[in-house]
Amino acid sequence: MDYVILDGQILDRNKAKVDIEDRGYQFGDGIYEVIRVYNSTFFTADEHLTRLFQSAEKIGMTLPYTLEELKNLLASLVKRNNINDGTIYLQFSRGVAARQHHYPDKDVKPAFTAYTKEIERPKDKLKKGVHAKLVEDVRWLRCDIKSLNLLGNIMAKQEASEAGCFEAILHRGSTVTEGSSSNMFIVKDGIIKTHPATNLILNGITRRVIMDICKEQNITIKEEEFNIEELLAADEIFLASTTSEVMPIVKVIGESFETEEPGEITRKLQAGFEKKIALQCGE
Ligand code: PMP
Repeated sequence: MDYVILDGQILDRNKAKVDIEDRGYQFGDGIYEVIRVYNSTFFTADEHLTRLFQSAEKIGMTLPYTLEELKNLLASLVKRNNINDGTIYLQFSRGVAARQHHYPDKDVKPAFTAYTKEIERPKDKLKKGVHAKLVEDVRWLRCDIKSLNLLGNIMAKQEASEAGCFEAILHRGSTVTEGSSSNMFIVKDGIIKTHPATNLILNGITRRVIMDICKEQNITIKEEEFNIEELLAADEIFLASTTSEVMPIVKVIGESFETEEPGEITRKLQAGFEKKIALQCGE
């Protein structure tokens, strides 16, 4: 049996029903996180939950839990569903209220839902790399909030997917921002660049793990804007996210970037990432 969390209660998935006037459903008015589980253990859960609380604050929502309470509740769902390698998805909408744009009264509680999924690590793709497509970034100017509103992201992903690509590389004018569901990195002459953590990107947890690995291994990483020209002239490109980890990009379709195989720095970071997983989750 598959269990989920609905408003703080663990219950059978078939019994979990969401109200039609949930603001998440009607407006996308809410926030979410996806946390990776390796070897039945959370990876970087505190970092994800801290970002969740920050997203909540940025949209004026107060979550009715402490970080520890939330983590314990999520851990009990992972245990209940017997997840070995997978993810937990959790979201808080602003709650259930008659449809009107402005926020409801303070006594309306955020609606909390969560579910788990057993998924394998994308080992083959991590080894061989993936293709990507450049797509204009038409999203709003608060991409730092992990909001339920993902239309700009999903339309970009769809465009990339229809072109046979794994990810869309988003650009605002000539500046590369991030992927549709990942952060973007280039390597040139041994130096890594990634867009600074401004309002134009989501400050990924995997991105931060990569920055830690760089520090430990004396690899130079600069949080600096780069443009399409630099992207296409790079020695290596990779993306990073909770589910894709450190994923090499070996071809940007319709453009001049193409490499035989994932580059040396990308490989080093992948090895460093393995060690982080082993350290936290004992795999
Ligand atoms: N940017 C966007 C737009 C994303 O959706 C994601 C995936 N959540 C990321 C970056 C990567 O973030 P993380 O490493 O925390 O998964």
